[in-house]
Amino acid sequence: MASVTKGKAREGEKEAMVRELEEFTILADEFKSDAATREKEAMMRKLQEFGIRLIDEFESNPATGKVVAMENEVMVRKVEELTMRLVNEFRSNPATASSRPTTGLRTVPVEAQHSTTQKAYVLTTQPQDGAHCQDVECILRSAAAKQELIEYPMFPQPTALLASREDDGGQGVGEASPPYRIAPIPSKGLGMIATRAIPQGSLVAGERPLLIVPKMQRIPDSTKFTSNATVRRRRLAIFNEVEKEFRVAFARMDPANQEAYMALHNAHRDDGSGPLLGIMRTNAYRVCILEGEPYSGVFKDLSRINHSCSPNTIYHFDRASLSMLFFAARDIPAGAEITSGYCDTLQPHATRAQALKPYGIRCTCAACINPTASDANRLRISHVTDAVPAIIRWAGKPALPDGLLLRPTLAMLELIKTEGLEGDPVYVRVLYHIVLVLQVLAVTGCSDSSMLLLVTKQWATLRGCFAKPDREEQTKFMAEMESVTTAALARSVVRERAVESNLQGNIQ
Ligand SMILES: [Zn+2]
Repeated sequence: MASVTKGKAREGEKEAMVRELEEFTILADEFKSDAATREKEAMMRKLQEFGIRLIDEFESNPATGKVVAMENEVMVRKVEELTMRLVNEFRSNPATASSRPTTGLRTVPVEAQHSTTQKAYVLTTQPQDGAHCQDVECILRSAAAKQELIEYPMFPQPTALLASREDDGGQGVGEASPPYRIAPIPSKGLGMIATRAIPQGSLVAGERPLLIVPKMQRIPDSTKFTSNATVRRRRLAIFNEVEKEFRVAFARMDPANQEAYMALHNAHRDDGSGPLLGIMRTNAYRVCILEGEPYSGVFKDLSRINHSCSPNTIYHFDRASLSMLFFAARDIPAGAEITSGYCDTLQPHATRAQALKPYGIRCTCAACINPTASDANRLRISHVTDAVPAIIRWAGKPALPDGLLLRPTLAMLELIKTEGLEGDPVYVRVLYHIVLVLQVLAVTGCSDSSMLLLVTKQWATLRGCFAKPDREEQTKFMAEMESVTTAALARSVVRERAVESNLQGNIQ
């Protein structure tokens, strides 16, 4: 390896570096399939380190930073190509292919920590659980983060789609098709279309990300600085750093995954974002892989889902299978577009339009075209608060009418449906309120239990589409159920006594 001095390499040194890279290329060409695994691993590691140093050198050096930008690109690409060839070599070689996932290539450079900024990231390919499940390329903030990811209970589970295929009446893996296809949508590019009717609460898709990265910190906002030039430079410096990190992870990805990644839409072509960062910024979902550390993930199919201000899906990240799960928030008919909300859909039109700008979206849904009524509805919906204390108070006062809370709560549920906001947590919250009110009415004999069963089932199904409640939430929920039941029983006793005294009054 030539010694590369950051930012100081002169012409001659650079020529030497280029030569060395060429030698590497020749060496890779001559790489025989029977080369010992260890040799390959060592070489792979060297190459990666070299690639990182090379990128660092070129970008940090004022001389080369500007003058030979094109040459830099060519060299960086060469390193990437070379890396890919080595990866393929490992795959195609029967001797080394079988040694994956324990000692194979992908575990080797995984631990390569590199520090292009002051931060040291860890690259890892997870979960390596077999040929049928997709591996995810991850840039994690620390080795501790990787440990936490791996040690999560039940990790790694197969992805939900695969599991459902296996359960598909003995059809076998790969027999059942997902209930969607990716297809062109007028004026939206590509999107996801339901190929069959998907009932409310059912799984639409379960997919692992192609790439997981630490969530970007806020990019400096140009309006807050007096000198735009400085801000631009700062932005570009950040973008450059991030792109460099991404490139290293990208080079480790499967060729098919690389292709899928690069095929995604990029709404950040002109703001200085590199291509990998631009695609991440356009298509990422927040993925909860670790407690308290924000990460973003890009998906082959799920990133194709377009925005709607009335989305028909609910999603959450499942840590055990390292996959994002999408469920139908309401019944989705065959042929309908599958959508999700890229912004807070309870906000008024103007706020949503602002939030959608970075995605290059000008939404033309019914709520955006004619926002007056919709904005008023959404404002009312956004004011829904926790009604459980009110329900307990009402249940405890038998003199209050039975329909006092049921009618407005059912009306709110209808309003949410009118706005198409079944994908928002507020819908599940209102369903929960209805469950509690119906429970009180069923105990006091004022409502038949079939409706209670129906709504409870619907609530439980939709609740399950969101991430599992934590211990604290579960305790709160149990306590609330108990309080409501106690109040309902007391209400029913008072009611029975009233009926009895009425009867006695009639007899006398
Ligand atoms: Zn809209």
